[in-house]
Amino acid sequence: MPTFPFSLNDPIQHLGPFPKTSDVVVIGGGVVGVTTALFLAKRRISVTLVEKGRIAAEQSSRNWGWIRKQGRDADELPIVIEACRLWKELAEECGEDIGLTQTGVTYLANSDKEMAGFETFMKLAGAYDLDTRLLDSGQTAALFKGISRKFAGAMTTPSDMRAEPWRAVPALARLAARLGVTIVENCAARTLDLSGGKVSGVWTEAGRIETSTVLVAGGAWSSLFLRNHGISIPQLAVRATVAATEPMAEIHSGAVAGAEVAFRRRQDGGYTLAPGNHRLYLGPDVFRHATRYLPALMAHPFGTRYSLAAPKGYPDSWSTPRNWTADAESPFERMRVLDPAPEKSSLDAIRCDFKRLFQQFESVRLKTAWAGMIDAMPDVVPIVDRAQAIPGLFIATGMSGHGFGIGPGIGRIVSDLIQGNAPGHDLNRFRLSRFTDGSPIRPGPAI
Ligand SMILES: Cc1cc2nc3c(=O)[nH]c(=O)nc-3n(C[C@H](O)[C@H](O)[C@H](O)COP(=O)(O)OP(=O)(O)OC[C@H]3O[C@@H](n4cnc5c(N)ncnc54)[C@H](O)[C@@H]3O)c2cc1C
Repeated sequence: MPTFPFSLNDPIQHLGPFPKTSDVVVIGGGVVGVTTALFLAKRRISVTLVEKGRIAAEQSSRNWGWIRKQGRDADELPIVIEACRLWKELAEECGEDIGLTQTGVTYLANSDKEMAGFETFMKLAGAYDLDTRLLDSGQTAALFKGISRKFAGAMTTPSDMRAEPWRAVPALARLAARLGVTIVENCAARTLDLSGGKVSGVWTEAGRIETSTVLVAGGAWSSLFLRNHGISIPQLAVRATVAATEPMAEIHSGAVAGAEVAFRRRQDGGYTLAPGNHRLYLGPDVFRHATRYLPALMAHPFGTRYSLAAPKGYPDSWSTPRNWTADAESPFERMRVLDPAPEKSSLDAIRCDFKRLFQQFESVRLKTAWAGMIDAMPDVVPIVDRAQAIPGLFIATGMSGHGFGIGPGIGRIVSDLIQGNAPGHDLNRFRLSRFTDGSPIRPGPAI
């Protein structure tokens, strides 16, 4: 069985040319880096984006493809509302079919207690005039063709969307390149170059780029990169397994999360399935930041499984160097693409759970499966800020498992922050200093 639609043997699409100088350098070619670069280019700012592997080869192509307002943290909600509008505009502008459709997101509830848990978001949805609504048991059953189990009810937002991530972010990168962004794949950023404590350039494996402004949007690698410059962020990464079925009859056109299995229909007629748990490898950063994660872990005690150590070369492996210099190979080019193996027991379980839920299917055949390392913060919301300690350095990372949908909103905001414009949203919740200024950790919703 192939492991993932993306192949490391795929040809490199963006080769540069490698510039000597650039107004802004973006580190990381995921949805956050790509959309930030794109919005900067629209303002005619010269941008170079360096990606150690391939555009969107890590989280930004491995995700479920949900673009949801439903269940969002209160401070993320206005940003994701903007992001939904931007997704529609960018899908038009890029002129490629990225599979963007408005087929809704639904959360199933097993009990009245779980139904009551939806009330917090329902109040928020009311304040923003969203189309989110609660469904009773009968209405929930009517959403699906032939669901075998009775649920207490559900919360649903019909205006939420989906897209095919492995098409969407590369299409946005091609749009960014057409708008003038210089994208260099297979090019790791090793270190910042600082003069008088300020950003004066970036050292990459291909040489130095002179710049006064750098964005770190490195997904699961951001904390490793920043720590080498004395900036500690409590970011961890968990492995999440995903499977894609062969095309099958339509039982629901949108995206659905239940306790055991989450699923969403893809454009090719198959379903993307995922379990309700993930795996945390116990590395040095886990021990360093463990106490900060306790509130989130206690809120979902059964959502996390543990392994003793991460495979070699992962950001939080025991053997991964924590310090290096610009003139030697860095951990980033040693691992071009973080490509964890999917967990076999999870694949068996989600296939069985999906089949049990929709018993009309004689079999559920998997076409492919993969896994991704989700970068997370203790309060389940990202860091979107400038680094006060290093003028010229901006950080947008820790999207905590829901950065695909909100990505273009974050990209637009960061492009304005970099230009010195008002971001248009209250970013206090996403400030870097919240982990050092004595604020309590206040976890946002996990899904
Ligand atoms: C299995 C799974 C399911 C998910 N489902 C959803 C979903 O349905 N909806 C949703 O909204 N979100 C979802 N997410 C989360 C979402 O995919 C991420 O939050 C989002 O893609 C993060 O984007 P990013 O740009 O911050 O990071 P990434 O996409 O991880 O990109 C970071 C990039 O930076 C590069 N990089 C790192 N360091 C360097 C360096 N030093 N030099 C050069 N390049 C570097 C990496 O190679 C990588 O390509 C899911 C994630 C996973 C893994």
